[in-house]
Amino acid sequence: MKQSNIKQSKKNINLKKSKKYHKLIKSNKKNKTSKMDKLAKLSNLSNVIIIGSGPAGHTAGLYLARANLQPIMLEGENPGGLLTTTKTVENFPGFHDGIDGYELTDRFRQQSQKFGTNIISQEVISVNKNIDKDNNHIFEIKTSKNTYNSKTIIIATGSTPKRLYVPGYDEYWHKGVSTCAVCDGGLPCFRNVPIAVVGGGDSACEEALHLTHTASIVYLIHRRDTLRASKIMADRVLNNSKIKMIWNSEVVEIMGDKNQVSKLKINNKDTQKTSELNVKGLFVAIGHIPNSDFISSLVKLDSNGYIITNEKKETSCKGIWAAGDVQDPHYRQAITAAGSGCVAALEVERYLQLQ
Ligand SMILES: Cc1cc2nc3c(=O)[nH]c(=O)nc-3n(C[C@H](O)[C@H](O)[C@H](O)COP(=O)(O)OP(=O)(O)OC[C@H]3O[C@@H](n4cnc5c(N)ncnc54)[C@H](O)[C@@H]3O)c2cc1C
Repeated sequence: MKQSNIKQSKKNINLKKSKKYHKLIKSNKKNKTSKMDKLAKLSNLSNVIIIGSGPAGHTAGLYLARANLQPIMLEGENPGGLLTTTKTVENFPGFHDGIDGYELTDRFRQQSQKFGTNIISQEVISVNKNIDKDNNHIFEIKTSKNTYNSKTIIIATGSTPKRLYVPGYDEYWHKGVSTCAVCDGGLPCFRNVPIAVVGGGDSACEEALHLTHTASIVYLIHRRDTLRASKIMADRVLNNSKIKMIWNSEVVEIMGDKNQVSKLKINNKDTQKTSELNVKGLFVAIGHIPNSDFISSLVKLDSNGYIITNEKKETSCKGIWAAGDVQDPHYRQAITAAGSGCVAALEVERYLQLQ
């Protein structure tokens, strides 16, 4: 046989081997899961319920559906999650021209649905834990319409950024007002122009420092006369020549030319004097509220309400995992949320296999 023919036939054998291998894996998975599915159908018991439909929830759905575990997703009142509130996402890999936040989440949805995630538009009100005769946890998940039973849960309910209740906030949302400097600070409308940040904690300091790379000057507006942030963060801010502190002050109005923020009305709490500050953007960094209330009796939370997880995204309750912003006080990005959704899904798959 010629050398080239030998190579080709080796290639074919490998190809056949790999096809066979994939078939085997597929049929093994089917056999394994069909038992589970039968059980699930008989007892109206799901393998896994994902609560939340942002990047974390849909990534978990994608992995679990591809593993034939027929995940159910309770998507809540904000299908697609926080990204739907942003116009341009420039930092999600694969979209070098950027992508509209709504379109990106719609793609997540289509992909997880294509492989079999069953998406139900309901909001979870409460979760209870029961123990079956084999000592396994069975979770009872209640929405206003139904009760679902599941062997495992992935909580991917995100967090809600705190907002300002001042005139102009809603009008200039996406037109200069944002709650995420890491996400939006690099957009053209915020480059080489004066920007303001509201807040005095670690997040506000981080946002202000991040913006110094792109803005011409950053005003940090804080309602007290000292920063609440850790000393190291406060020092970095106070020693940065591009950050100017505006102490004891609150933003009372956001103004602009209808298309973009152009100035803020600021009230000094000591003097009660109002002044105007020319800026092209306002980043509100006064904290997030993790959406973890409904599960707080079952899993451990930190002092700010974030669900405590380990590197496998396990919570303090066996059978419950958490992914995305609801367990992440630090990074809060779509890509990190998606990554943790993947980790949680793979761990759920492993857990169910061992049952
Ligand atoms: C203005 C802004 C711009 C941003 N821009 C970017 C960006 O450009 N790039 C980037 O990487 N990140 C960006 N982010 C951050 C990004 O949106 C979040 O990190 C990401 O969406 C978190 O994903 P998640 O899946 O954890 O939660 P979320 O996306 O917040 O989704 C939470 C989901 O949980 C559901 N839910 C909540 N409570 C319940 C309940 N009780 N029952 C059922 N469902 C429930 C909601 O309906 C929602 O579907 C931005 C954030 C903001 C605020």
